[in-house]
This record gives sequence, C-alpha cells and structure tokens, in this order.
Amino acid sequence: MSDRSAPPAIELCCPDCPICREETSYEDSAFECQPCNAYWPNGVGEPGEWLEPDAEQCEAEIQPLLGNPYADKELQATVERCILDDGHDGDHRAANGLDSWPSRPDTEGTPA
Ligand SMILES: [Zn+2]
Ligand SMILES: [Zn+2]
Repeated sequence: MSDRSAPPAIELCCPDCPICREETSYEDSAFECQPCNAYWPNGVGEPGEWLEPDAEQCEAEIQPLLGNPYADKELQATVERCILDDGHDGDHRAANGLDSWPSRPDTEGTPA
C-alpha cells in the first residue's frame, strides 16, 4: 500500500479552429467551433461540417492580394468569399483559413 496520490486528471487539449484560429471545444466526440458554427466529426485531417448545413453562406468577398506588388495579375484578381454563415458575428473568414477582414457595411469586401 502506498499513500502516493494518483497523477492529477489530464485535460484534453483541443486543436485550433482552422477558420478563426481559436481553440475548439470537444463536444459529443467531435471538435467544434461555436463562433464559426462548424464541427469536425470525421476526425483529424478531414474536412469538417457546418452545425447548420442549411444556413446561407455569407455574401462578403475580398480580393486579399489586390494591389500586392508581389502577386501577379491573376493572383491579384483572386476573390475569396467568406465561408461563414450569413449574419455571423465578428470578422469574415476566407476558406483558406488565412484571410479575414472586418465586417463594415459601408466598405464591404474592400481591404483596409
Ligand atoms: Zn472557428
Ligand atoms: Zn462573412
């Protein structure tokens, strides 16, 4: 008999959301990001799913490389559309997980 106490409880560390880069939460055996309305029931390395698959997609678009001197004309013309639900809170997010831009009704889709 040892009076040595057991190691303390371990905590699951969740991966960052690939859309907004905030830490996901673990719900019902899937990682989930509430702000993005997305979850990943197919495991790590697989695309996720939307919590509300019937929700309309946000209409906001941006040309993240427009005016970038290092991008050629074709890249500059690339349009990224926000992949979040229509009417979401916070910044718009591109599907590449890299570009985000603030939602401002008067300058919608225009890079700052
Ligand atoms: Zn997220
Ligand atoms: Zn959006």
